[in-house]
Amino acid sequence: MTFTFDRVASSGAARAGVFTTPHGRVDTPAFMAVGTVATVKALDPIELEAIGCQVILANTYHLHLRPGDEIVRSLGGVHRFMGWNGPMLTDSGGFQVFSLESLRTVSEDGVEFRSHIDGSRHRFTPESVIQIERNLGADVIMQFDHVIPGQSVEVEARDASERSIRWLVRCNAELERISQREPGTGNREQRLLRSTGPDSPFPVPVQTLFPIVQGGIHANLRREASRVIQAEGDWLGYGIGGLSVGESKPDMYAMLDVVNEELPHDRPRYLMGVGFPEDLVEGVRRGVDLFDCVAPTRMGRNGTAFTSDGRVNVRRSELRADARPLDETCECSTCKRFSRAYIRHLFVADEILGLRLVSLHNVHFLVALMRRARAAIIDGSFDAWSRDWLARYHSRPTPVP
Ligand SMILES: [Zn+2]
Repeated sequence: MTFTFDRVASSGAARAGVFTTPHGRVDTPAFMAVGTVATVKALDPIELEAIGCQVILANTYHLHLRPGDEIVRSLGGVHRFMGWNGPMLTDSGGFQVFSLESLRTVSEDGVEFRSHIDGSRHRFTPESVIQIERNLGADVIMQFDHVIPGQSVEVEARDASERSIRWLVRCNAELERISQREPGTGNREQRLLRSTGPDSPFPVPVQTLFPIVQGGIHANLRREASRVIQAEGDWLGYGIGGLSVGESKPDMYAMLDVVNEELPHDRPRYLMGVGFPEDLVEGVRRGVDLFDCVAPTRMGRNGTAFTSDGRVNVRRSELRADARPLDETCECSTCKRFSRAYIRHLFVADEILGLRLVSLHNVHFLVALMRRARAAIIDGSFDAWSRDWLARYHSRPTPVP
């Protein structure tokens, strides 16, 4: 099988596993670095490999608008385009499209929206999104889903969740249609493949579609969605969507508990768009295997560093002569070589290296946090380790920027 998930150890609901894809393995739990427009902002793939990052996420909405998914396809797919040969995942654009608010209209067929770049009109349907994700060629592709604000009332949450499941069925049918057409003869892709040989820049991607469990903060809807989705197909993994979109943290954790009970334990679960350190640890405790979030790079560019004692704003004047690294327990190349004082200096002087160094540290922090959690699950110390880690992280209030 091209995609496999092997659990190697567990501790309560937490699991350590190996998720295998056509582009290699991902040791779980894992943090996926976000490469929105086929770049993890300010970091190159060689740095990401050195950090130990095993999987990158790219964004369907952004790459469709610029440079265009057909262009990416003509250059060999998103792996080759961005110079990353490891596992990749594309989101479906649902979150971005529904974030456009005044710029979009929703119908049962799909969503019409205006580009945030130039205002041009576009239309996403479950079918067109799968065609785009096929052109991009990531290993894991997410279904197109109807995303709603975190505090939505039950009737709205039910409407969006049920529509998302109908869209899942359409996504799956479209993926099957495209993949069955490709090995046959006479279609454009196959002719291109034949004419250019095995080193063709148009490899036929082997992909798996992940459904997304929606349902807002309503336990009954989350439970129902989990069950109906499982009845619709034998999925190789599951997304958990619509969290960290304005609801409270206790609500989010409660939904994870519900979904953990319902989803099959032998498939990876991906909590979408959630990536603050405390949420990763809380998520792993509730059976989540994969996470992604723009927070480490966005905060890195703003000069906020994750540390084991909470966040540090590197511009603060107290750091002016601070010879310590950002985090004394961190083994990233930023912390091994540079002081807080130097990094503060780079930010104050508006030097581009500063935002690169903090971005690298932040991504490393989350990748290493998941590596540490995995080791603790395997050696049987996860429950105690995670409680200690959360207590230490929460013990120091986040400084006001
Ligand atoms: Zn570091």
